[in-house]
Amino acid sequence: MNINSINGIQYSNLQNYKCNNRLHYAKYSALTKDTLSFGQSAKIPPKVLKYLKQVNEKHLIFYDIEKLEGLQNGIEIFKGLSFPQIYYLISKLNGVITKRGCINNCIHCFADAKPPFYMKSHHLIDKIDFEDYENFCNGFKELNQRLGFTAFEQTFIDSPETKALFYDSDSSMIYLQDKNGKTYDYADLSKMMHEATGNLVLFDTAGWNINDKITQKRMEDLVNKVSNTDEYNFIQFFISINPFHSIYNKSVEFAANGDKANSKKFREIYVDRMANVLYTMSPLLPKKNSCKEPQLRFIARVLPNNLYTSGYMYNDLLKLFKDIINKLKNLYDNDIRSTNPKIVKNIWQKNKYLELCSELFKTDNNVSLSNTKLVNKLKEKDEFNNYWRKVINIHLKDDPDNAKHFRFGFIDLDGRFYMTNYYETYPTNIVLNYKNKGLPTAKMGSNLVDKMIMVD
Ligand code: SF4
Repeated sequence: MNINSINGIQYSNLQNYKCNNRLHYAKYSALTKDTLSFGQSAKIPPKVLKYLKQVNEKHLIFYDIEKLEGLQNGIEIFKGLSFPQIYYLISKLNGVITKRGCINNCIHCFADAKPPFYMKSHHLIDKIDFEDYENFCNGFKELNQRLGFTAFEQTFIDSPETKALFYDSDSSMIYLQDKNGKTYDYADLSKMMHEATGNLVLFDTAGWNINDKITQKRMEDLVNKVSNTDEYNFIQFFISINPFHSIYNKSVEFAANGDKANSKKFREIYVDRMANVLYTMSPLLPKKNSCKEPQLRFIARVLPNNLYTSGYMYNDLLKLFKDIINKLKNLYDNDIRSTNPKIVKNIWQKNKYLELCSELFKTDNNVSLSNTKLVNKLKEKDEFNNYWRKVINIHLKDDPDNAKHFRFGFIDLDGRFYMTNYYETYPTNIVLNYKNKGLPTAKMGSNLVDKMIMVD
């Protein structure tokens, strides 16, 4: 087992060992790109079919992965990859990125998301080619059929059980078009992913501009589509409310400079924005996902009160949440008074939604992110540094389950598979056979390491 950039870390879990023992590192910049090619024929070797029949289990963990080499033959998306490489990807895949870049500019963004103009000015692709996405989903459907079970059935105890379609973008901005101009919204794309993997598909939003009518309409349509049926209960929605969004952050900065008027103005913009997001997505509040959990939940990251980081602490967020809820109440009341209510028809429904919002709102101080704007901004503060050191130590050194534990893998728009523990991100030598293979994409966050994980 050769994950070795932090000494003394041993994987005790047999399955983890089995997964990780194929790895070694190489200097990323020294590697020539896309050199893998095994020239497989489309024919599945008879000995593979015989072996599958012989083992006859419904879970990849029961198989000697080497003996399945060739099962992927002829599936376009896997061209050039060995079965052990595909297996590694299956065991770690957390997301297939469909869009890069974000307008929210949150200061705690672990992915260091770049704004859309950056993608344009640097000539970077910012969307997956629909055909690549379709080939990915169909490729796995075909593989599942050959196996006789779903390859993504939780392969290891710690394998991701969900799939994200994002990495450094907001889900409210995600949709794709095929070459005939047909649009696939988030529910359509999630359905394709769910059919290929059997996993819950995640949707995260930090909100959209209240004046952005196109996104507002897209979100209203999506919420309508999902809330009116159980067909999409494999999507888990999250609304991220936190003090790190760029608009609220401006309010904190103005306050720190004594500019009360502007501080108030930006705070109100953020409160209005998030009240509108909650209002629009309210019909999802009483729904359950396929694991019978609420289909809409909150991500509410915050710093602890004892850090004295004015504006970003637990108490600040609670005040912010209270204000958002008050605005939301007004929006519900407007609906009740209206002859044509959009979301809430009566007081009972209003109270139900408000109750659910309060129940679901739980803060989380795990801002588990290295080298973010937030960390850079606060690194002069002793309290923050001490706290931060502790967090890093827990995650990277003291706890063997977290340290160098690459649970999370993402496929970029060019087909390259990256691994991250959210403190460090590594490229791997696994590259899916995307049409967009080799095209330039934005760097995968500011914690990208100049080493490549090699999977044999
Ligand atoms: S944290 Fe999410 S919403 Fe905020 S900038 Fe990053 S990707 Fe965008």
